[in-house]
Amino acid sequence: MLFRHIRMDGDCVGATKGLKRILQLTYPEKRIVLSDGQKSDYLAFLGPDDEPVADDLCRSALGIVIDVSEQTRISNPQYALCRELIKIDHHIEADPFGTLSWVEDWRSSACEMIAAFYAAFRDRLRIDGQAATYIYAGMVTDSGRFRFEGVNGDTLRLAAVMLDQGIDMETLYANLYLIDPRILNFKAYVYQHVHYTENGVAYLYVDRAMKREYSLNTETAGDTISYLEGIRGCLCWLAFIEGDTDEDGIRVRLRSRFMTVNELASRHHGGGHACASGATVYSQEEMRTLITEADQAVKEFKESHTGWL
Ligand code: AMP
Repeated sequence: MLFRHIRMDGDCVGATKGLKRILQLTYPEKRIVLSDGQKSDYLAFLGPDDEPVADDLCRSALGIVIDVSEQTRISNPQYALCRELIKIDHHIEADPFGTLSWVEDWRSSACEMIAAFYAAFRDRLRIDGQAATYIYAGMVTDSGRFRFEGVNGDTLRLAAVMLDQGIDMETLYANLYLIDPRILNFKAYVYQHVHYTENGVAYLYVDRAMKREYSLNTETAGDTISYLEGIRGCLCWLAFIEGDTDEDGIRVRLRSRFMTVNELASRHHGGGHACASGATVYSQEEMRTLITEADQAVKEFKESHTGWL
């Protein structure tokens, strides 16, 4: 059985679907299940997952958890029933688990690890264009189209191995990056209402009213973070997304360039990568505290470093 994280993204979907397909092609007699009930409009083009399975089946299964650093973020609780568990992840190790653990936090995506797994055992594994498309989709999305830290020669060599399987790039990129006109209006709103702190943090709070006004779900509201990227002098940018209920708190997406943000995230019920982290705050006051901390971190970074842009 394959497992991934809550609030699924292109990487955990691509890695689980890609590995599932490789294993299914290689071992057609085995039953391989990927079912956590999560849905994503954005990733629907990659196709549906399996139907839920009974707990009994899990007790004799091998579980493979991909792209999740902490057990609390695994989307399907049935992982805990599996007879053996393998962890495959590219996040900084916060919560070691699994009978076997393969963690390489310098990798640009979990999909890169699946591609590396395929490349290492290619004489024994089978792959096709569909599996490669899943894996390539995750590599592209998690690395910001091969731009982010962590991308190196190995990343591009492994991407090439996937491309060699025959990927329809035009369709894949259209599915990943075309924008709905309705969302374009929201994007315009973001640019008109972004706030800046004194030292260079760009941030926006998307509340429930705004989500209703622009017909946003948690996923499309979360895209705010990518609209805030690339503002000169703003080394850190934050998107605060109010949850659907008060208990959900306010989801925080943190991004940075040159400096790191994961320590900041870990102070507010979160964590993640050096320059891409997530957190949750539970009041407007905590939100203001986080903004102040981010502003202070940018100030200290700018004072002690040169060459940032
Ligand atoms: P996000 O902004 O939600 O896409 O998160 C960016 C990165 O931080 C992802 O790689 C997540 O796995 C990680 N992350 C997000 N939220 C949390 C959290 N609450 N705890 C630990 N890591 C997180």
